[in-house]
Amino acid sequence: MTTLLYTHLACFEHDPGRMHPESPARLKAVLSALEGPGFAALERREAPLVERARLARVHREAYIDAVLQAVPETGHAGLDPDTVLSPGSGAAARRAAGALCAAVDAVAAGEAGNAFCAVRPPGHHAEPSRAMGFCVFNNVAVGALHARDAHGLRRVAVVDFDVHHGNGTQAAFWDDAELFYASTHQMPLFPGTGGAEERGVAGNILNVPLAPMAGSLEFRHGLRETILPALIRFEPQFILVSAGFDAHEDDPLAGLRLHEDDYAWVTTELLAVARDFCDGRVVSTLEGGYNLQALGASAAAHVTALMAV
Ligand SMILES: [Zn+2]
Repeated sequence: MTTLLYTHLACFEHDPGRMHPESPARLKAVLSALEGPGFAALERREAPLVERARLARVHREAYIDAVLQAVPETGHAGLDPDTVLSPGSGAAARRAAGALCAAVDAVAAGEAGNAFCAVRPPGHHAEPSRAMGFCVFNNVAVGALHARDAHGLRRVAVVDFDVHHGNGTQAAFWDDAELFYASTHQMPLFPGTGGAEERGVAGNILNVPLAPMAGSLEFRHGLRETILPALIRFEPQFILVSAGFDAHEDDPLAGLRLHEDDYAWVTTELLAVARDFCDGRVVSTLEGGYNLQALGASAAAHVTALMAV
C-alpha cells in the first residue's frame, strides 16, 4: 500500500523569529531527509486549507477568531510567550490542520495505506481555547475528530511519542470515552501535565511519563507493557500519531535518549495494531524535534517504517 506525504510551502512561512527553535529549517530538514531513492514511492500531496467547521470540532469559535485576528501584517505577534505568529502563520496553521483532515479522508477512502503530514506549526499543546508551546491549532485532534465524525467511526486513538506531554490533545479528549490518547514523555518537563494518574473520564487517557535520561529500554517497555495493550483493548478504528522527534538523544530541548531505530520500532508496532483492528489505517503528523540532523534522520526512520507495510 502507498504512503502519502502531505505538506505545503505555506508551512515554511510561519516564522516565529530568528532565535526560535520551532523554525522553518525544521521542515526543510524533514523534507530533505525524505528525498532520495528510498522515498521515491512516497505519493506527495499538497495540504489544503482546513475548513473552519473542522477546526471547530476541537476549538472554540472565539479562539479561532482570536487566532486569525492576531496574525500580524508585519513583524510578530505573540499568542503566549512561546507561541509567536508571523504574517504567514495563519495560512500555515490552516494548512497544518488541513493536512490531517485530507490525510484522514484519503486513508479512510483506501487511496493509501497510511500517511505522514510534514507540517508546522505543531499542534499537540494547543488546547480548545488556548495556544501554547509553539502550537496554534491542535492538528492531530482536528484529524481525529474528523476521522470520527466524517467517516462514521466510533473509536479513534492518538498515540503521542513527542518528548513533551500533549496537554492539548488530552484536554480535547478527556471527556469523551470514544477517543483514546496515550503518550510517552519526559517528566518533569514542559508543560507539566501527563502524570500516570491523569486517566480521563473513562480511562481513555493513558500517560507513561519517563524520567530524564531514560532511553530505548524504558521507552519500549512503556509502549510494550502499558500503551500497546491498552490500545488493543480500545480496539481503535483509526490511529493517529503525534510524531515528535525531540526525545532523541541529540535534542537540545529535553533529556531522553532515543535513537532513530526506536522511532522505526514504535511505528512498526503501531502499524501492527492498526493492521489487526483498522485495516492498517494510520495518519501521522510532525510535532517537535529541534536538532535538525536528528530530526531528519528520525523522520526518515519513521516514514521508512510507514512505507514498509
Ligand atoms: Zn515536543
